Amino acid sequence: MGGETDTQKKPKGSYPVHAPKPVGQLISNIYRDRIKQFTAGGQYEKYNLLAMMNEGVASGEPHVKLSVWDAPDLSRPTFDEAVSHEFKPTHVGTWFGPSWSTHWFKVVLTVPADLRDKDLLELHWDANNEGMVWSAEGHPLQGLTGGGERVEWILPEAFRDGEPHTIYIEMACNGMFGCAPGGDSIQPPDPNKYFQLRKADIVAVNPDARQLFIDMWILGDAAREFPRDSLEQHRALTLANDIINAFELGSKESIRTCRRMAQAYLGPNVDSHRVYDVASGGGPPVVFAIGHCHIDSCWLWPWAETRRKVARSWSNQCDLMDRYPEHHFACSQAQQYKWLEQDYPYVFDRVKEKVRQGRFHPIGGSWVEHDTNMPSGESLVRQFLYGQRYFESRFGRRCQTFWLPDTFGYSSQIPQLCRLAGMDRFLTQKLSWNNINNFPHTTFNWVALDGSQVLCHMPPSETYTAEAHFGDVRRSVQRHKVTAAEAPRGSTSRSCAAAAA
Ligand SMILES: [Zn+2]
Repeated sequence: MGGETDTQKKPKGSYPVHAPKPVGQLISNIYRDRIKQFTAGGQYEKYNLLAMMNEGVASGEPHVKLSVWDAPDLSRPTFDEAVSHEFKPTHVGTWFGPSWSTHWFKVVLTVPADLRDKDLLELHWDANNEGMVWSAEGHPLQGLTGGGERVEWILPEAFRDGEPHTIYIEMACNGMFGCAPGGDSIQPPDPNKYFQLRKADIVAVNPDARQLFIDMWILGDAAREFPRDSLEQHRALTLANDIINAFELGSKESIRTCRRMAQAYLGPNVDSHRVYDVASGGGPPVVFAIGHCHIDSCWLWPWAETRRKVARSWSNQCDLMDRYPEHHFACSQAQQYKWLEQDYPYVFDRVKEKVRQGRFHPIGGSWVEHDTNMPSGESLVRQFLYGQRYFESRFGRRCQTFWLPDTFGYSSQIPQLCRLAGMDRFLTQKLSWNNINNFPHTTFNWVALDGSQVLCHMPPSETYTAEAHFGDVRRSVQRHKVTAAEAPRGSTSRSCAAAAA
């Protein structure tokens, strides 16, 4: 149109064309959710990291040939007795039970040609119950847990020859917490539980993908657990999303790229024992951790099952020590060592060798992890007398640390008894579970009525089943309560995380 003037275009006081520009805001929830989706099952699992975890799977015959012998009358026969029976063919999908019954599987594995050269071959066995892998010669090798816990057993190199190789799996029809009805593990056991064998596969695992999964777990936790809008949280969130952007479905190289990116946050030594090395880490450690599995000698499962639990758990620790020389593990209760010695001499010898190497640490000094309020004084004394006598006779030395992570209530005479039994340290964490007050210290001296004292520590993560993931480590640092006078020189925040293994 003609005849218009500037005055007409922009009359004084009129509504301006431009406002201050909108500024984008990072909605961190969206980014945090995206981290979860990168490793989540369900609708994205064919497109996210889970799609790259395995490079091949061999199921069913001729690669995985299964037969079974059902032990009668809830009996728990030995290896020799079990394998003397006839095994009948079975397959994935079959149900086994009832609660507490035992089923022995003969598993004949033939690695297919296309998997033979892969980096890492594992048997994945999941029946949602516990089990023990035995060699064909009758050596108990490693425990299985099922149900999202430990389901892997690494195939020996010798199995890559294309020939059939036999192992046995002793299935125990109970979960880690017994046979609880529904999800409530503290209710009386359900005597009629059945367990379906869901998986018995030879799997070629992509180790880089598995490690990236753990990198992302820790980065994701950092993005969620550091304070909102902190620099640390922002860095973790940004890096995790950059890694997801760098991921290319189907590209192993992209996974290696993603892992290199993660090291910007996790450090260059994350794949090596050097990650625990004080000198290369650039400062003093603020958290000390040691592997531990807490096995109630007597709880909501048959007494005889505890004996098998000990063998399953501790053989796993020996296996981990073989693969990770930096791994240390502490376990208490002379009775459990004695069961292992009686029932599983092969595992006991492995444990003994690791004790000799200073990596498997017998602790506690007592016969079991006992109560301390109801027993008489003599009963308490005998716990230490028989316990220390056993530890000294089998391992050449007495324990120095009394260990009661899961006992409620403590007799005021415990420090005196500990010192008389040769122990000057005590670990528990149970005081933090009380419903009366918030105990003011996590490291302190406990003084008995006669003045005897022991140095006590309660893991500040307030659990004896910490997994040493990001949150456990953070809680170990932040919740450590020690007064300046009690702190070791040069440190105000040393603490300990007893990690479940
Ligand atoms: Zn317990």
